[in-house]
Amino acid sequence: MGIAARLTGPLIVGPERHAEGVRRLLASFAAVPPGEPVRLAKKTSNLFRPRASSSSPGLDTTGLTRVVSVDPDARTADVQGMCTYEDLVDATLPFGLMPYVVPQLKTITLGGAVTGLGIESTSFRLGLPHESVLEMDVLTGTGEIVTARPDGTDRERALLRGFPNSYGSLGYAVRLRIALEPVARYVGLRHVRFDSLTALQEAVARIAEERIYDDEEVDFLDGVVFSADESYLCLGRRTDEPGPVSDYSGVTDKQAVFYRSIRHGGPAGSVVRDRLTIRDYL
Ligand SMILES: Cc1cc2nc3c(=O)[nH]c(=O)nc-3n(C[C@H](O)[C@H](O)[C@H](O)COP(=O)(O)OP(=O)(O)OC[C@H]3O[C@@H](n4cnc5c(N)ncnc54)[C@H](O)[C@@H]3O)c2cc1C
Repeated sequence: MGIAARLTGPLIVGPERHAEGVRRLLASFAAVPPGEPVRLAKKTSNLFRPRASSSSPGLDTTGLTRVVSVDPDARTADVQGMCTYEDLVDATLPFGLMPYVVPQLKTITLGGAVTGLGIESTSFRLGLPHESVLEMDVLTGTGEIVTARPDGTDRERALLRGFPNSYGSLGYAVRLRIALEPVARYVGLRHVRFDSLTALQEAVARIAEERIYDDEEVDFLDGVVFSADESYLCLGRRTDEPGPVSDYSGVTDKQAVFYRSIRHGGPAGSVVRDRLTIRDYL
């Protein structure tokens, strides 16, 4: 825990600043007039459904958007509920670690993904975001903060179990301790073409079972369906082998668009290879 205790900065704030953020949240909760709805005041949202407008000020989450600490030995991070994955990944990668599941959109928050049943390309081997939550502080409707742990009281275990897919109705996650997994510097990609969705589905099932495709390991699995007879699986493998990488961030080449890069004119089963840094991949 030595490094974690020393390392504070813009992204990793330490327990005292976390406690200050919680104090601000609780003060804003106490200020909600009786009978008014309680909601999060957040700058970003990734909900599909529209929200009813509300005149109540919303809960102050401004002090709850960072990582509290990273423990590289235990491979865990304590993360504030409204920390975006972009910031979370930037805080853990210097330790050679990543969250088990990193959703595609940078502004999705850890609390939002855990309560909203997130999923991404590691989920076939590491589950959904809530499955790597080791414990969680939740602000409940009574205004108390409950720490929910798998070995806690019946009430705490029920809160932990019921939280995924509850979308804030059981309370708001204020701090989450999550498991992290080691990364390599790069992700080697294979874009495999399919001309039948049944064949693609069968390949997904086989890879989920064996974690291998054509004798090569698969650490990351996702894909794109362009039409019923043109679809691709994008298979990623962790690697430290040095070599060139592509850049789809728009910084060096505005024309380079990732989803276009995976399409190729080869027959079913043909493969195009690519490489990204781990940060760009995530
Ligand atoms: C275009 C698009 C692409 C998406 N892609 C992916 C993807 O690749 N992978 C993936 O996993 N998901 C994806 N999602 C779904 C997304 O993860 C969920 O909608 C998630 O809940 C959004 O989290 P947020 O942090 O943006 O929360 P918000 O949109 O702000 O809130 C979503 C809901 O969660 C509640 N909530 C937010 N924070 C907390 C908290 N700390 N504690 C309790 N409740 C909270 C809110 O009250 C609200 O009901 C996508 C959604 C969209 C619209």
